[in-house]
Amino acid sequence: MQPLQGVKRRKQRYIEGNEVPQSFKIGHTRLCEGAMHEDDTLSISAVFVFNPVYGLIKRSQNVTSKAQLSEVRVSDKPIIPSDGSPLIEKIPDNVQVSFEFFPPKTEKMHERLWTAITRLAPLNPRFMSVTYGAGGSTRERTHDTVVRIQKEMGIAAAAHLTCVGASREEVDGVARHYWDSGIKHIVALRGDPPKGDASFTAHPDGYAYASDLVTGLKKVADFEISVAAYPETHQDATSADADLDNLKRKIDAGATRAITQLFFDPDVYRRFRDKAVAAGITVPIVPGLLPVTHVTQNVNFAKNTGTSVPSWLFDLFNGLDEDPGTRELVAASLAAEQVKRLVADGVSEFHFYTLNRPDLSYAICHVLGIRPQPH
Ligand code: FAD
Repeated sequence: MQPLQGVKRRKQRYIEGNEVPQSFKIGHTRLCEGAMHEDDTLSISAVFVFNPVYGLIKRSQNVTSKAQLSEVRVSDKPIIPSDGSPLIEKIPDNVQVSFEFFPPKTEKMHERLWTAITRLAPLNPRFMSVTYGAGGSTRERTHDTVVRIQKEMGIAAAAHLTCVGASREEVDGVARHYWDSGIKHIVALRGDPPKGDASFTAHPDGYAYASDLVTGLKKVADFEISVAAYPETHQDATSADADLDNLKRKIDAGATRAITQLFFDPDVYRRFRDKAVAAGITVPIVPGLLPVTHVTQNVNFAKNTGTSVPSWLFDLFNGLDEDPGTRELVAASLAAEQVKRLVADGVSEFHFYTLNRPDLSYAICHVLGIRPQPH
């Protein structure tokens, strides 16, 4: 019988050996201590649950596996990865981030937005962007916020712009106004149908799709243009391939970055990115991350965007509805694992849907090695 320190993966066999797993299972990493018998059966005497951010978070001693407990040799020694590999892998130092905000409706929301912008600005993001309400309902507020971010914070700002409910001339006019105000980066979108409308109908003289808008914007001025991408396929698309063709059209029209719709499982992003690259898309496909703070709200948000919500997300936050402190800790550890998985997949640029709340985005940036810069 040999002493065992191994890795347990849920519903999988125990893996023999002393190594720390390379993959970060969502939630945490379990190291088991126990014994391996000559007949290749195992006995587990203790399970240690590690989180990449907080280290050891749970120790369950005297775990009763089905058999052979009498033969278990319990080690009192703490489990230390014997190959010396760190529990937290080194993050490369070329990571870049951008932050998305929505324009405020009330004085209180205005205050919250600027608290968020001021907190995140020292992280020196590549850009900060501001969304555009359905049908241009936030036109002035989006404009004012974007211009103020750039002028007062000295951070490159991007304005979201949609095709909804406006003629080409009107949309071009908004874009020209941005250019004249010093805003040279547009996140170009078709937009969602206004509330109450089941499907999107283009304005009779308007841009029908984001690819048309990109073409139009490039005629107005030489904007930097980002567009949307959908790892789980946009709801109106006839197929995943057709949606990817659409993304390619937007890039061919002049966009130089795609920002993804939110997703929870990093594998969903990786598969999509690999497919896009295979389809000849060479611009960065930046993962759009929604830090999960309140699972019910996030699920509603996800539903509206056609994003699937994995069952483990519910498990992870189950029982924490009335416990915001623990929720924040769990959310931070989940986000840390997600970004590490993405970094391991070669991602070096991230876009955060901050919902005008800075703390979790700030924490994830810290995990990504981003520190405040003197301005
Ligand atoms: P498009 O790229 O035009 O695609 C829309 C649909 O039409 C897709 O299903 C596509 O496959 C299909 N399609 C495209 N071209 C053709 C064609 N020629 N023939 C047939 N089908 C076609 N919404 C807002 O209102 N304001 C915002 O500020 C905002 N910001 C966003 C930021 C990001 C990063 C993301 C990911 C989304 C954002 N959205 C915003 C949501 C977005 O407007 C919606 O998802 C919208 O439904 C689609 O916009 P799009 O630019 O992807 O559209």
